[in-house]
Amino acid sequence: MLNIVIFGAPGSGKGTESELIIKEYGVDHISTGDVLRSEIKNETELGKIAKDYIDKGQLVPDDLIVNMLAKVLDGKKNSKGVIFDGFPRTIPQAKALKEMLNKRGTDVSVMLDLKVDEDELIRRLLERGKISGRSDDNLDTIKSRLDVYYKQTAPLADYYISEGKHVAIKGVGAIEEIFGRVKDAINAVK
Ligand code: ADP
Repeated sequence: MLNIVIFGAPGSGKGTESELIIKEYGVDHISTGDVLRSEIKNETELGKIAKDYIDKGQLVPDDLIVNMLAKVLDGKKNSKGVIFDGFPRTIPQAKALKEMLNKRGTDVSVMLDLKVDEDELIRRLLERGKISGRSDDNLDTIKSRLDVYYKQTAPLADYYISEGKHVAIKGVGAIEEIFGRVKDAINAVK
């Protein structure tokens, strides 16, 4: 299985590059942010809990996310690969993912770390906020999300470096140009 973790700060282009990867490689997409937004829309118990965290720009607790992800993954049993978008975001989540995949006889193939500077991230997120309708794409929440990213999520790069899975990708430039770098990284592990 081709299991790709797409990683980077909010606004780094994970969703955009994921769409291109799905088209090119035929893998399934799991975006924990999308799953959470659908839980909120459907007013589920999980959705109600998650909304408070999301609107503050904080992470939803690991146990909730890991259980949610395990269920989504179980629904993709015959998949030829999965792109994980927005997950893992903490070391416990990364360890849980490894365990889940190992149990299914597979592992993370590569972690793509999209590098974008902070001014550009804020610019992109504010632009997106004008059309996304997302309650967390406003300046205050964006600042919390970036803070949470640098403190809690960015250290995960070291975890994947130690696993020999980390590839840094320059995430600035034309979308297709960035995708060229993404493909090089994926083709090297395929
Ligand atoms: P972005 O990468 O732009 O922040 P996402 O859609 O990936 O957008 O995430 C939106 C919000 O959903 C996060 O700020 C967080 O509150 C919550 N969330 C998404 N994925 C996770 C996760 N793996 N662990 C904890 N919280 C998450």
